[in-house]
Amino acid sequence: MSNRSTVHAHTNLVDGRSSAEVMAQTAFEKGFVSMGFTEHAPQDIPGHWEMKEELRPVYIAQVRKVAKEYEGRMRIHLGIERDALAHEDRSLYDYVLGSNHYLYEDGQVCAADGDPTALRVWRDTRYGGDGGAMVAEFFRLSGKYAEEYRPDVFAHFDLIKKTNKTGDLYNPEDPRVIDAGFQALEQILASGALLEVNTGGMARSGQPRPYPDPVYLKRWHEMGGRVIVGSDCHLATQIDAGFDMVDEYMRQAGFRTAWRLGSFGEDLFVEYPLD
Ligand SMILES: [Zn+2]
Ligand SMILES: [Zn+2]
Repeated sequence: MSNRSTVHAHTNLVDGRSSAEVMAQTAFEKGFVSMGFTEHAPQDIPGHWEMKEELRPVYIAQVRKVAKEYEGRMRIHLGIERDALAHEDRSLYDYVLGSNHYLYEDGQVCAADGDPTALRVWRDTRYGGDGGAMVAEFFRLSGKYAEEYRPDVFAHFDLIKKTNKTGDLYNPEDPRVIDAGFQALEQILASGALLEVNTGGMARSGQPRPYPDPVYLKRWHEMGGRVIVGSDCHLATQIDAGFDMVDEYMRQAGFRTAWRLGSFGEDLFVEYPLD
């Protein structure tokens, strides 16, 4: 059986560019055995990518409808991507993809994956220009969120690297950054969540490799953590972006198996060999 699947996909209902219908059709044509939609849950703070409350029933109905269309051929799960600053009734969904897109403090927020200039200002005003301290805080917030909320999957762990393409925001090898990342991984592990190996940034923002970086993925493997692939797809043609390299990427971190969303007659998440 094929193990092609993604635990992370968006639709044009919010910030994606393809409909659930087209997304599912493309996944099916590419031999997917399962997939999950994960629209961004409504948030406590105003953003530009989250689902508005009034769209929730539309989203749920759309995904359930496509799931029915593919019944017996490709299992489609209803998920939700819930940010640390979002709110959502998790019982409405098959699973929750937990993620952290922000730095926040004193009622103020700054997107970790948004405008690099805004993040630089945040660093300079709140951390005296100390990028390492800022990223350590990002990981601290991520770990705390995982511990408190216990999502089923934790998404794009080191997302903040997206804003550090030129390398002048922070030093990713700063021991304080790595230590804080490891600490957050401990909390994610304790939460029981799978860790997403996210290939979406490669297709969408030219990242050279998936999230998370090998240093964190290797650590996650040593800790006994479990991995699951997500293409964080916003455009149907990118539903399998990075899939040609992701198995090898996980193997190089030490993994011999990964997990995916279950097909018909299987559990919600199932393990498969990386061979
Ligand atoms: Zn996300
Ligand atoms: Zn996403």
